[in-house]
Amino acid sequence: MAFVIAEPCIGTKDTACVDACPVDCIHPKVTEDDFAAENQLYIDPVACIDCGACVPVCPVSAIFPIKNLPEKWKHYAEINAKYYIQYLMKKYDD
Ligand code: SF4
Ligand code: SF4
Repeated sequence: MAFVIAEPCIGTKDTACVDACPVDCIHPKVTEDDFAAENQLYIDPVACIDCGACVPVCPVSAIFPIKNLPEKWKHYAEINAKYYIQYLMKKYDD
């Protein structure tokens, strides 16, 4: 189980959640190359420890436990996970 960032992050992307996460599993950070290109941030479903610390700091309530994702945003679980699959594939391509 993990937490997932959904649609409200798009257009906000203020990175408050990054600073709140104790295990550094929200990316891309402002210092990462792909920050400008991505329209939202994503939570690593494997690294997330389900602490919930990112939820109250999000100004637009974009973060949900995967089981509580609103029906209209269910696909964001896959969108978050896919970011990390692409990250891994790029890493092995280098
Ligand atoms: S629930 Fe905790 S570990 Fe998971 S992304 Fe949020 S702050 Fe990080
Ligand atoms: S705090 Fe919310 S809006 Fe800001 S980057 Fe994180 S998920 Fe997106």
